[in-house]
Amino acid sequence: MVDLKYVVILIIIVSIATPVSASSIRTGVERICDACGQKITGSYFETGSNFYHPRCFTCEHCGDPIKGPHTVYQHKSYHNECFEDHVALRCAVCQGIIQGEYLLDYWGNAYHTSHKDVVLQCDFCQRFIIGSLIDGMKRYGDGYRLCGRCSPSAVTSVKSANKLMTEVASYLENFGLKVDPGSIRLHLVDLRKLKELSPEGTHDTKGFTDYFVKKNVFGRVKDQTIDVYLLAGMPRTQMISTLAHELTHVWQFEGGQLEQDKALSEGSCNFAAYLVLRKIGGAEAEYVIETMLRDDDPIYGEGFRRVKAYAEKNGLASWLKLLKKRNARLSRL
Ligand SMILES: [Zn+2]
Ligand SMILES: [Zn+2]
Ligand SMILES: [Zn+2]
Ligand SMILES: [Zn+2]
Ligand SMILES: [Zn+2]
Repeated sequence: MVDLKYVVILIIIVSIATPVSASSIRTGVERICDACGQKITGSYFETGSNFYHPRCFTCEHCGDPIKGPHTVYQHKSYHNECFEDHVALRCAVCQGIIQGEYLLDYWGNAYHTSHKDVVLQCDFCQRFIIGSLIDGMKRYGDGYRLCGRCSPSAVTSVKSANKLMTEVASYLENFGLKVDPGSIRLHLVDLRKLKELSPEGTHDTKGFTDYFVKKNVFGRVKDQTIDVYLLAGMPRTQMISTLAHELTHVWQFEGGQLEQDKALSEGSCNFAAYLVLRKIGGAEAEYVIETMLRDDDPIYGEGFRRVKAYAEKNGLASWLKLLKKRNARLSRL
């Protein structure tokens, strides 16, 4: 069965140096100044294994000599005030200075780790929903939530989803994946319904395609229905990506390529979504691409990366040719 899964990137944990206490001025011993390279004859500063003339031991921010307590960050020294006011990483939630481990979202916002699971995060962009992002935020009944920045483009009606489907279908046609949007029935459903439809799916499921085909005794198609279920309320870019993925399943279904291995079929659906996202461009599209590229799932992530590598090496035409083969397997590439 088919489902769509994006493992969202999220959070990278990085360590930074913590402020250290002052070094003291001492006299006597002869040393070489680490800043100017000249011999030190009088008093000097010692930080770690480095020595400096007092005039050479300067703040990386303002350039003035440092005479007392200071902060070392990434091997550079700062007056404490200069560090706190101009250099220190500030938490986007509480504005406090960040030391040690912290969370970093895709957009470059840093957060104290203590805010995780306490402050709401947007289910699309993963930003913590704070400050101006609270205005206009959306919380759906099934728990899906969008920040105030993502919610204005939320697709909440079948009518607007159909319009997007037509747009996506024309992009796909240009890539050689022709499907007739007129043969597809779109449904916007909540997460609960989506999980029911796609039992194999995970919490990341955003869409599901169901085919029904009735053949007569001669094997001719008598009746065929294609239903595409989409998570209601997704932002436009996510909806476009999900539509491209599901329409590629429809194309695979109509071509009878259902025997292929999952890594190839799902990887190709994600690759088709990637192609469409690249066409529409913009920060949100780049973000969705990044989540696919970082997805560690063996089918949706690894499958996508291998299909992408294959298409980049051999061309889109070769990828399509491969995809049209009934029993094509990614493992044989
Ligand atoms: Zn799929
Ligand atoms: Zn010096
Ligand atoms: Zn300074
Ligand atoms: Zn904080
Ligand atoms: Zn958001």
